[in-house]
Amino acid sequence: MINLYASQPSANILIVDDKPPNLRILSTMLAKAGYKVRAVTSGNMAITAAKTMPPDIILLDIKMPDMDGYEVCQQLKQFPETAEIPVIFLSALQDAEDKVKAFEAGGVDYVIKPFQFEEIRARVSLHLAFRKTRDQLRQLNQELEKRVEERTTALLETQGELLFNARHDSLTKLANRRLFLERVELALKRVHEENNYIFAVFVIDLDRFKRINDSEGHMVGDDLLIEVSHTLETLVSPADTVARVGGDEFAILLDPIDDVNEALRIAQKVQKALTTSFVIKEKEVFTSPSIGLTISLPSYQSAIEILRDADIAMGKAKEKGRGRYEIFNKQMHAQALKLLTLETDLRYGIDQGEFEVYYQPIMQLNPIKLVGFEALIRWQHPHKGFISPGEFIPVAENTGLIIPIGTIVLEKVCHQIQIWNQKYPNATTLKVAVNLSSQQFNDSNLVQNIDEILEKMGLSSKNLKIEITETSLIEYSLESTKLVNELKKRNLEICLDDFGTGYSSLSYLHRFPVDTLKIDRSFIDSIGKPKENSEIIQSIITLAHNLGMEVVAEGIETEEQLIYLQQLKCDYGQGYFFNRPLPPTEAEKLLNNN
Ligand code: C2E
Ligand code: MG
Ligand code: MG
Repeated sequence: MINLYASQPSANILIVDDKPPNLRILSTMLAKAGYKVRAVTSGNMAITAAKTMPPDIILLDIKMPDMDGYEVCQQLKQFPETAEIPVIFLSALQDAEDKVKAFEAGGVDYVIKPFQFEEIRARVSLHLAFRKTRDQLRQLNQELEKRVEERTTALLETQGELLFNARHDSLTKLANRRLFLERVELALKRVHEENNYIFAVFVIDLDRFKRINDSEGHMVGDDLLIEVSHTLETLVSPADTVARVGGDEFAILLDPIDDVNEALRIAQKVQKALTTSFVIKEKEVFTSPSIGLTISLPSYQSAIEILRDADIAMGKAKEKGRGRYEIFNKQMHAQALKLLTLETDLRYGIDQGEFEVYYQPIMQLNPIKLVGFEALIRWQHPHKGFISPGEFIPVAENTGLIIPIGTIVLEKVCHQIQIWNQKYPNATTLKVAVNLSSQQFNDSNLVQNIDEILEKMGLSSKNLKIEITETSLIEYSLESTKLVNELKKRNLEICLDDFGTGYSSLSYLHRFPVDTLKIDRSFIDSIGKPKENSEIIQSIITLAHNLGMEVVAEGIETEEQLIYLQQLKCDYGQGYFFNRPLPPTEAEKLLNNN
């Protein structure tokens, strides 16, 4: 609420009147009331005075010789510095027309002479208060506008940030999958519109990243990803896009390129730059990239297809041995599709119980006698017929399906042993070997699972043997050592499968509590052939015996091979010469004869 009559003592008043006595009286009275007063006697002087030091209010006489009050007021309204000053006209004239003219000229009020001082004071006070209120309002308005502007800017910034976050990876600040696909989509549009426009897409996966992350911790893993992102950015031009499209997966859009060779050159650069060690948090970590690339063909219809193909090529590069690059081709696509169908079929097969276990007899070689079996899984696909484990086990390993499949095999085998133990008293000494995949080493429930199955079937661990390949034992030495120790605690025997195909280093053997060594089929196969490996076979057998291990020869197909192995004092053997893997009913017949 504004008090209109409160005096504004510090206010400046300019009085304009051509008659000095009038001026004097008015000045004195207003000065006494506390105002700062200036007085001038002509219109021109008034304009100069108002412009040099603008007063808060002007009392303006109308009738003056050089320029009348209306004219003065009109002129004052034209200059920005004086336009807003309220003008109160003073006049002896009483005509209504003059009052109208005064307001038209821009005056705010009109006082008739002879005046009463109280009236002047009240009107001055009123208009000063008006002015003050108006100024305050204007200021408030300006502040409001400023605030609105600030809020709008802040809002736009947040919006920009949100937009940025939606299209970028928060860790590396690289484009994310979404932005990457948008850019590829745009590039693809140009491929369809312009002749000879080509671009390339890379998918880069860091080999061993998961292991670095697990063993060195997430902080190291994160920093490694950031380092890699910086490195990648230095390898391409600013117009290209580097993106992080998955955990340890990066993608590059080279757009455009002159030809395929340009893409290959950059793939080599990436390969070289990332096949290195990074020092992160004072630790040295080694990486290498597996790179898949694809070139924009007009036959592509969407960015997703392009990324998918680069990804398939990357998988191929990884499969071929890491730290390499592969260009996508049509066969890869067909193969990827086949694998995908196989995965779907596997899931279905698990649900439908399409798996069986066959048993291949394991014979003592001298004298020949049945001592056990190797359990080998068989998949009878309802439409595709028999699918070999060599084909579906790798898919099961890559998809994690090996875990339920492993359980199925263990259960079936233990159940079978239980049946045979009950039917044939001499079967209780038989051992059945079950294959374990390296992917099962990470299954924290595996050991407990074995315990439970054995207990449920009322079996002792001496009927069961576990086969682990030499390669997986070495490649996953951390996990395998832990597992092997757990299995040994339960008196389960361990057989090292496919020995001689992997690291073929005999020096580590004593570190693992292995009971049996199974010589790979390829060695047995060479017996009697030009490139015979007899010396190696001999030394494997000798070494194993020295370490207190027994030896099984895998893949005996001929009598010649058998006789030879008997001479070398190989303990056991299995192979088509004796029997193929047999369905349970067939295997059972052997027990009957034994
Ligand atoms: P493996 O464990 O080395 O099994 C021996 C393979 O050699 C079997 O192939 C067997 O049928 C074959 N074989 C045996 N004797 C002869 C012979 O005289 N000549 C020839 N040419 N081959 C012979 P299969 O059954 O196709 O299994 C292939 C591989 O699949 C196995 O190699 C094993 O690594 C894996 N596998 C089989 N069953 C399972 C399973 O239940 N779990 C896991 N994780 N892997 C399994
Ligand atoms: Mg085996
Ligand atoms: Mg084998």
